[in-house]
Amino acid sequence: MTEIDQPKIEESLDPPDWATLHSTAHQIIDDAISHVRDVRDRPLLQDMPTAVRDAYAAPLPLGSTALDDVYAELKSNLLPYPMGNIHPRFWMWYMGSGSFSGALGEFLAAIDGSNLGGGNFAGALMDGQVTNWLKKMMGFPETASGTLVSGGSMANIVGLTVARNALAGIDVRSEGVAAIKQPLSYYASDQAHSCHQKAVELLGLGNKALRRVPSDSDLCMNLAELRRRIDEDRDAGRRPACVIATAGTVNTGAIDDLKAIRQLCDAEGLWLHVDGCIGALMTIAPENRHLVDGIEYADSLALDPHKWLHAPFEAGCAIIKDAALHRDAFAVHPEYLEEKPRGIAAAEYLQDYNLQTSRGFRALKIWMTLKEHGVEKFGRLIDQNIAQARYLTEMVNEDAELELAAPTTVNIVCFRYKPAELADDALETLNTEIMIRLQESGTAAVSDTTVKGRHCLRAAICNHRTRLSDLELLLREVKAVGLEVLENG
Ligand SMILES: *Cc1c(COP(=O)(O)O)cnc(C)c1O
Repeated sequence: MTEIDQPKIEESLDPPDWATLHSTAHQIIDDAISHVRDVRDRPLLQDMPTAVRDAYAAPLPLGSTALDDVYAELKSNLLPYPMGNIHPRFWMWYMGSGSFSGALGEFLAAIDGSNLGGGNFAGALMDGQVTNWLKKMMGFPETASGTLVSGGSMANIVGLTVARNALAGIDVRSEGVAAIKQPLSYYASDQAHSCHQKAVELLGLGNKALRRVPSDSDLCMNLAELRRRIDEDRDAGRRPACVIATAGTVNTGAIDDLKAIRQLCDAEGLWLHVDGCIGALMTIAPENRHLVDGIEYADSLALDPHKWLHAPFEAGCAIIKDAALHRDAFAVHPEYLEEKPRGIAAAEYLQDYNLQTSRGFRALKIWMTLKEHGVEKFGRLIDQNIAQARYLTEMVNEDAELELAAPTTVNIVCFRYKPAELADDALETLNTEIMIRLQESGTAAVSDTTVKGRHCLRAAICNHRTRLSDLELLLREVKAVGLEVLENG
C-alpha cells in the first residue's frame, strides 16, 4: 500500500478553548443589553475622533488576534459611533429602530447557520411560515406566494419583474426584452421611491418607460393624469403594463387611492403593484388600517419588516397574488439543484421565488419578535407612531414660527422653521443648518426634503422608543437652534 501524505495539523475555526469563548461571548451579551437599555441616555450621535476613523484604514490582518482583543476594538471604535437609528429621537430617512429579540434572532440564525436557498429543514419551514404570516397580515389569500428579500427595493424589483414577464406578451425569459413587440409602460406618481427607477432600468425597460404621474396637492397620484398617460401610450403603440401605487410615500406618507387604481387597472388590463414599504403594515394597526383598504387587491406587494416591524437590517418581503406567475419568473433547476424524494433536498427551493441562490435566514429574527410581542402589539405601536405624528403636526400648526409643509397622512411630518417672512432660499439655508446642528449635537435626527418645490424638515416617526416629550423637545430645539443661527450665524 502506498503511503498517503497526511497534513501535520488539521485546523478549524472553532476556538481551541471553549471556556474562554464562553466568557467573551457572555461579556458581549452583557454589554449589548446595557447598550440598548441605556440608548436614551446617550447622545444620538457623537463625534468620531480621527484615531477611530484611521483605525478603519488598518491593513489586512495576516495573523490572529485573541477574540477578547478583537471585541475590545469594536467596543471602542464601532459601538459608540452608530448611525443612531435605534435612538428614540431618530426620525431621519425612513427605517425601523431595531429590537433586542430581533438581534438575538440574527444571532441564532447565524448559529443555526442554514442557507435559506431551500431544502428540507426547520429553518426552511420557518421561512415559509413567516412569509405566510406576512401574507395573512396583508389580507392576501393562502394561494398567494411570497419571498423574504433584503429590503423594499429588492421586493419591488421582484414584483415588477413578475409584472413585466406576465404582461410582455412573449416569453421574456428566453427571448429577452428586445423581443417585446409593444414597449411596456409602467406608471408611478412623482412621489414614488427612487428604487422604481433602478428597477425599470434593471428590467431593461429603460427609465423613460416609467411614466411619472403628477400628484395632487395631497401628494397622491392624480388619476385623471394617470388615465391620460395610459391613453397617450396606447395611441403611441405602447403597451400600458403596470401601475405602481404607493401606500405611504417616502416624502410625506401619502397613500394613493388603491381601490380606484385597482378599478382602473381592471378596466385597462394592467398589473397593480403596491409599494407598501411604509404603509403596508398599517393593515395590522386597528385605528389606521382603513387608510390602506384595498391593498389586498394588489397583484404584487412590497413591504419592509425592517421598517415598522423593527427587524434588524435586512428584511423585505414581496408578495405575489398568482404564485405560478411568481415561480415562472424565477425558477431554474440546474442539475446540481434538483429536488429529491427524501433527504435535505426533499423540498421546494425557496430560491425559485427570487434572484438569490444562497439566502440568509431572515425569517428567524422576524419570527422571534412577532412571537415575543404578538402582532397586536406591533399594530398598537404603528397606531402610536401615527398618533405621535398627528400630535407633532398640531404643535407645528399652533406655533406661529413653524409652518407645516405638507399634509400629514400617517407618521411623516414635513415642516419648517419660519420665524419671519424670509425668502424661500434663505429659509432653506436656515432649516438645513438647523437640521445639521441638531444631528451634530446628538439631540435629534430629522431629514429634509422638498415638497411641491418647498424645502422642509421631515420627521419620519417609525420608532417604538419615541415619546411625545421627545417631539416636544424637537420643536423646542428647532426653534432655539434656529434663533441662534439667525442671531449669531
Ligand atoms: C424604504 C422604501 C423603499 C426602499 O426600501 P429599502 O428597504 O430601503 O430597500 C421603497 N419604497 C418606499 C416607499 C420606501 O419607504
